[in-house]
Amino acid sequence: MSSLAAPIANHPPTAELQARDAAHHMHPFTANGELAEKGARIITRAEGVRLTDSDGVELIDGMSGLWCVNIGYGRHELADVAARQMRELPYYNTFFQTSHVPAIALAEKLAALAPGDLNHVFFASGGSEANDTNIRMVRHYWARKGQPEKQVIIARRNAYHGSSMGSASLGGMAAMHAQGGMPIPGIVHIDQPNWFLEGGDMTPEAFGIERARQLEAKIAELGADKVAAFIAEPVQGAGGVIIPPESYWPEIKRICAEHDILLIADEVITGFGRLGHWFGSQSYGIQPHIMTIAKGLSSGYAPIGGSIVCDEVAEVIAGDEFNHGYTYSGHPVAAAVALENLRIIEEEGIVERVRDHTAPYLAQVWAGLADHPLVGEAVSRGLMASIALTPDKAARARFASDPGTVGYICRERCFANNLVMRHVADRMIIAPPLVITPADLDEVVSRARKALDETHDILSERGLMQAAA
Ligand SMILES: *Cc1c(COP(=O)(O)O)cnc(C)c1O
Repeated sequence: MSSLAAPIANHPPTAELQARDAAHHMHPFTANGELAEKGARIITRAEGVRLTDSDGVELIDGMSGLWCVNIGYGRHELADVAARQMRELPYYNTFFQTSHVPAIALAEKLAALAPGDLNHVFFASGGSEANDTNIRMVRHYWARKGQPEKQVIIARRNAYHGSSMGSASLGGMAAMHAQGGMPIPGIVHIDQPNWFLEGGDMTPEAFGIERARQLEAKIAELGADKVAAFIAEPVQGAGGVIIPPESYWPEIKRICAEHDILLIADEVITGFGRLGHWFGSQSYGIQPHIMTIAKGLSSGYAPIGGSIVCDEVAEVIAGDEFNHGYTYSGHPVAAAVALENLRIIEEEGIVERVRDHTAPYLAQVWAGLADHPLVGEAVSRGLMASIALTPDKAARARFASDPGTVGYICRERCFANNLVMRHVADRMIIAPPLVITPADLDEVVSRARKALDETHDILSERGLMQAAA
């Protein structure tokens, strides 16, 4: 490695960093008191699919950071582009009838990549902001169409759409709604297509139809003249990599079309190759009116997100001033970094590699985990995969312990085996960088299996292999 590219390895000892972190840094989605006692794991550098912590331990990042580092760590091209853009034009806004080259080029590129007539981009700094934009945009759209009563947005329980007031209201996370007065008015939720836990005696196909028809029932209950839009992730991410039955999306598509409801696909995770297509919508054959994007848009190298909007909605919105925007909408450095990221994905054929090679390989090796005594199902789509932990496979039972007790133990065993795998309640999930190799996927699966074995031992010792009544 040249001296220019050498990592900054000289840092204070871990214990000191942990103490300073605990004293001043409030972590998101964290019990900070508990973390202060334990001490945060401090990541100091990364390359490819591997992280290094402040003790020099190397881990495989099974989660692409937070589902975002699609092209992997250490791509200096993005650093070079960012430095060049910062020197040339570090910032300018796009509010007052001005624009700049990176925002123009990125909007044009996204319009070319997105399916059908999704030709217009409204930029934000991340997915939460973009979904807040979407709430205001679809409501304003119907108001301008002379239907100001068409305002309700239907979303799903256990969906994740971000953490701002609007986006967390769209999300269906009960624990989030319990803090801070959500959901905001005019957002209602239907059930998620989680067959493993909620499918009962139904086949997955019948269950997919049943869950989709909840949308139709909700529209009937509210009146189609009151419903602005339905929003969903093609595959739920933070909800636990819940892959809907094949019957689900075609039925949702039919219902939205028949009742004149806008469809918003939250592609923040599924966009940019994750499911083996540029967008998850393409993998499910749906043509949304708006797609939310963030995360993989820049592979996490810079904070940027946005909404890709169809011709009809954009034209209606263009009729007057849309009183909405962010200081960093289309930030030139973030936009330049995103463009370079898209260039790499395209020129290196990363989407095709996922579709034709890596995803089929992951599907095969991941399915092998289903024979483990703790695993109720092991499923994947593209490079998103999950396993349901259960004390009783045949019954698809939940554990008697509080949800997440077992998942947390398993996550700790994954860390101990130098694998970053996340838990959502008692479901374990991965979404590795799209550039991961089959050899590294073998390594992920073998470390996961070892962590499962160790988890099984711990559960047996502690009497936790009990099914809920
Ligand atoms: C992460 C995520 C968001 C929120 O994006 P932020 O950049 O964290 O605001 C929205 N939707 C989905 C599906 C996500 O996974």
